[in-house]
Amino acid sequence: MRVVTVVGARPQFVKAAALARALAARAPGEIDHKLVHTGQHWDDNMSRVFFDELELPAADVNLGIGGGGHGAMTGAMLAALEPLFVELAPDWVLVYGDTNSTLAAALAAAKLHLPVAHVEAGLRSWNRRMPEEVNRVLVDHVASALFCPSEVARDNLAGEGITRGVHVVGDVMLDATLHHARLAASKSPLAALGLEAGGYYLATCHRAENTDDPARLEAILAGLAAIGARRPVVFPVHPRTRAVVAARGLDTRGIRLVDPVGHLDMTALEAGAHAVLTDSGGVQKEAYFLGVPCITLRDETEWVETTRSGWNVLASADTDRIVRAAEAADAVRALPRPALYGTGDAAARIVATLLGEGS
Ligand code: UDP
Repeated sequence: MRVVTVVGARPQFVKAAALARALAARAPGEIDHKLVHTGQHWDDNMSRVFFDELELPAADVNLGIGGGGHGAMTGAMLAALEPLFVELAPDWVLVYGDTNSTLAAALAAAKLHLPVAHVEAGLRSWNRRMPEEVNRVLVDHVASALFCPSEVARDNLAGEGITRGVHVVGDVMLDATLHHARLAASKSPLAALGLEAGGYYLATCHRAENTDDPARLEAILAGLAAIGARRPVVFPVHPRTRAVVAARGLDTRGIRLVDPVGHLDMTALEAGAHAVLTDSGGVQKEAYFLGVPCITLRDETEWVETTRSGWNVLASADTDRIVRAAEAADAVRALPRPALYGTGDAAARIVATLLGEGS
């Protein structure tokens, strides 16, 4: 069986690492796995470091398509992927999440009648202004195998009439976090950064709804600066956010901005944080898996199970809500933390399903 995985962005490298391990664990010769990198994220610290650290095999093909608007980027990927899929003739095209790379690969494959497997199917924010929401809805509607992290995701798909090929397998991010937390334990960056476990906040912010709206980004930075008076706030800055902060001359005093960090350092930083503040999808769940309270800098989340458990609080881009949620983080640690997203064997279950062994 030939599987062609298409990745392009940071969160996909993390998920693909879990799948690559499960694919490689099968009998020799059982699966021919080809990895295609669209080039959507290309900087060393957004791409190369993930391949180096996470035992992700080097890409067999790198399309080198990064930058540009959504249309130009997705269109260029479509044009490049179609002949590649014709040449490789995969049995499955495997895509992850909700980026332009996900959409382009799913669309190119579907038009060639190649089966698409979507990992992280059924996620919904119900906010169609998010480019990610548009991507994930469209991909779910052309996929033949839809791998859901939770029953909520399955229900979302059923609500859109999608019931065939749906498998609730748990979250590959849990597989990844369990593995990466073990690797990260031996090389923690905390001492080098002058941080103590439990003595700092970790922040990330990159989603267009926050970076494209200066008032929202300013309110978030004000919230981070306010809580920074009590504990240091370490903020690995996504390139998109860095560009907006620089272009608008936004005030980041009181916040420790650092470049994006490798994933093992990120996992260690999450695990040691007093609380995590983020608009990232992946970071919300990693915080939950690691038992760290999360404050989500958005109006809604796809990961509703984490907010229902009380471990994740929506604070929007509201300075006061951010401060209040950060102050309440201690109480959150006493809450039960049920296994919301499976047991950490999602990748093996996905591979078994692709091979026709059921899930
Ligand atoms: N991440 C990382 N280094 C950083 C920031 C994030 O390794 O400096 C990881 C994070 O741990 C998670 C993934 O990148 O696994 C999330 O990616 P991102 O926030 O870009 O995307 P999203 O999850 O929102 O789609």
